[in-house]
Amino acid sequence: MASHTIKIALIGNPNTGKTSVFNQLTGLNQQVGNYPGITVERKVGNCRLPGNIKGAIIDLPGTYSLNASSIDENVVIELLLNRNDKDFPDVAVVVTDVENLKRNLLLFTQIKDLEIPTILVINMADRMQKKGITLDIPYLEEQLKTKIAVVSSRKGTGIDKIKDLIVDYENLSTEPCLHASTIDPDYFNRLRQAFPSQLLYKLWLVITQDVNFGISEKKELLGTSFTKTRSELKRLQQKETIKRYQFINDVLKVGQTIDTSKANDLRTRLDRVLTHKVFGYVIFFGILMLIFQSIFSWSEIPMDLIDRGFAWLGTYASEHLPQGKLTDLIAEGVIPGIGGIVIFIPQIAFLFLFISVLEESGYMSRVVFLMDKIMKRFGLSGKSVVPLISGTACAIPAIMAARNIENWRERLITILVTPFTTCSARLPVYAIIIALVIPEKAIAGIFNLQGLTLMGLYLLGFGGAILSAYLLNKVLHTRHKSFFVAEMPNYKLPLFKNVALNVVEKTKAFITGAGKIILALSIIIWFLGSHGPGERFDNARQIVAEQSKAGLMTPEQMENKVAAYQLENSYIGIIGKTIEPVIRPLGYDWKIGIAIVSSFAAREVFVGTLATIYNIGSSDESEATIKERMNAEVNPATGKKVFNLATGVSLLLFYAFAMQCISTLAITKKETNSWKWPLIQLFGMSSFAYLVSLIAYQLLR
Ligand code: GDP
Repeated sequence: MASHTIKIALIGNPNTGKTSVFNQLTGLNQQVGNYPGITVERKVGNCRLPGNIKGAIIDLPGTYSLNASSIDENVVIELLLNRNDKDFPDVAVVVTDVENLKRNLLLFTQIKDLEIPTILVINMADRMQKKGITLDIPYLEEQLKTKIAVVSSRKGTGIDKIKDLIVDYENLSTEPCLHASTIDPDYFNRLRQAFPSQLLYKLWLVITQDVNFGISEKKELLGTSFTKTRSELKRLQQKETIKRYQFINDVLKVGQTIDTSKANDLRTRLDRVLTHKVFGYVIFFGILMLIFQSIFSWSEIPMDLIDRGFAWLGTYASEHLPQGKLTDLIAEGVIPGIGGIVIFIPQIAFLFLFISVLEESGYMSRVVFLMDKIMKRFGLSGKSVVPLISGTACAIPAIMAARNIENWRERLITILVTPFTTCSARLPVYAIIIALVIPEKAIAGIFNLQGLTLMGLYLLGFGGAILSAYLLNKVLHTRHKSFFVAEMPNYKLPLFKNVALNVVEKTKAFITGAGKIILALSIIIWFLGSHGPGERFDNARQIVAEQSKAGLMTPEQMENKVAAYQLENSYIGIIGKTIEPVIRPLGYDWKIGIAIVSSFAAREVFVGTLATIYNIGSSDESEATIKERMNAEVNPATGKKVFNLATGVSLLLFYAFAMQCISTLAITKKETNSWKWPLIQLFGMSSFAYLVSLIAYQLLR
């Protein structure tokens, strides 16, 4: 019996309950990361086995076969073929679904050919009675040359059996259960003779797969008489698959009996409604609205609490810590920066709660069925609808929701275009500008012009997303092949444990991944806004006092003036002034420039910054409101109002299209594992915004 840590690889088709088995075995002892250099999730966990032995489980991405057609599958093959890999398993645990044994066993027979000790887990045993399935386990074990654990990861039964088999892994058979070499005996014989010390099936995979397995023979194999033409290899691979299915069919004919009178009527009836040409869409959009509502309104209370909590903490710190630069950094930079990360947690948690329930229940596959055809035209997936709609609350959780899209290319396009959807941070900006420049008129007696404008902006957002997806689809050349297996899993009640773990994991990933970048960038923006070069910033109080004949102002008015003067002379202020020549063609002055630069921290900051620049106090009621002040602002050069229709429309369009949110850039960096894509987002969206605003201003002015 082993005394070291046993390395276990969990392998299986998607939707076989592999994650549930992993969760049952490891509980919260999981670490989630990425495989180096690629975006495939790498999950490892520990478990305690009988006899106080430790097990280290690696949960490999779900895969249909060992024929590498996606990066997920490459990960599986590269690990299983490389005995020198530090993760190379002592034992492979292949998870299958009792209702889909025929399809699931294909992968199992391939794994067996690699001569690794292998355990077969037949999961979802709780469904057997209802479906009228009975299994002859001893017969199956004999034919498949393996040990079988019949498991219900939902009920938690059979998990101990898996553990017992793992501990005893040295006694498992490593014999293949069928001989794939019979597809071309002559060829395989020659191969065996040329490389006697190598595993035959491994050689075959190395020849046929277009991936780097890190084995030294790859070079030797290619460029020898063993290479065949592509079409020949393809034909042999097909022959192999057919052979495997024949074998599986023969085994199951004896080893499995299904009482067909217990057919799946509920499933059929549900499918009829949920994928209906009309009701299907109605129900789906109903569910989307519910999700949308919940991320909007349910998260409002916790978000508000978080907001106030951090504001209080900031004030508390600045009042109780010794005065100085360090305290300023903590109270005004670090604490609000952390607050700016924590505030996203409620939305992320709610969104993933819903998404996990939809995925787990089997409904998401119906969504793909419904939406895929339409979305594919734009290079998106049926599942892209969820991120695009959730983006109306906030792009951060929405971009994370794109993780559910299996195809990398579709996922990337979804990530790139999601920030076009009108997020809630744009609303305050839209609200104030619409109120300023769009007349409160009714059109055709019913439609309010201001409301219509707002709706138009939402539509523009969606339009921008769809159009850019279409363009990206035309120009993007990704290396990853598209591979899609249409599958409709059974409907199931979601498992609480799976849903909860998923929510926790996504939240953790956000905090540790994007959170760090958001914090760093918020501190930089804070620094630029509250520091300035030279005397004007440092002596702001004195200068303001001299300029404005002190004594005529209340202390509050004085404070506001000082704040405005400081902002004007801070680094951000200087940037705002420096970019004035660039933004003047859009109809903006340096004050708007400052507001645009500082709203990189979050779009809604735009309004607050303008309030500071126009030095408007929040409590003094005798003062003009921000709207009145903005309305009264006159351009000294032209004598016209600054916020006129042309500038207003130009600003609305700018905010609709520009990539103006560092948190979104941070999450894009995290999700794509590269700086390239967030930079493309930043420059692509912002130049488009510039162009559109320029045209609008020049036409309207
Ligand atoms: P994965 O895609 O293979 O990782 O599968 P998941 O663990 O996500 O499970 C897929 C679906 O099967 C989910 O809806 C689970 O709730 C469900 N499921 C998992 N294990 C069982 C089980 O033992 N019995 C039943 N009835 N459903 C299960």
